[in-house]
Amino acid sequence: MIASAPFMTCQEEDFATTVIDSLRFAEDGGRLRGRLALARMPRLADLLVADEGALTCALEGCQIDCAGLARPGLHLTVSGRLYLQCQRCLDAVGIDCAIDSHLLLVPPGGAWPEDELTNDAFDAIPADPALSLLALVEEEVLLALPIVPRHAHCTPPVALAAPQEDIAPSPFLALAGWKKH
Ligand SMILES: [Zn+2]
Repeated sequence: MIASAPFMTCQEEDFATTVIDSLRFAEDGGRLRGRLALARMPRLADLLVADEGALTCALEGCQIDCAGLARPGLHLTVSGRLYLQCQRCLDAVGIDCAIDSHLLLVPPGGAWPEDELTNDAFDAIPADPALSLLALVEEEVLLALPIVPRHAHCTPPVALAAPQEDIAPSPFLALAGWKKH
């Protein structure tokens, strides 16, 4: 049997309603896969031009090597397509969300890894006996979004472009002309 077989056959969970004891999940080597509807994440949905659809999510308990010590962590993968507003042409721009994060769990009173900020291999989060997967995924997706979403190639809408002679004068120009008289 290949190693991924249990993962392939495990039940689909609704990540919007699933809560885990994060440390226990990590220590037990827990595995969950499922979907999370975009509309269930209000902070993310506010940024989207369309909140239909869902993200595909998987979470596994794992051990993360931290300064030579194996510490409990979570391996989260999230994929799906998000539609944001292009900051140049103001039309919708599709962004492929592809998160693959290792999250070190820091128990209450536990030491935060000193190299966390400089170590790209993982991020550290507080261990939570009632970790909402919705909150976890939403936070990770928000962090992964481009700061200025835009198409690779597009042009600003006419109203924002430099004035051109072959287009009708804007109402503001007309108003400015009227004010002179
Ligand atoms: Zn654009």
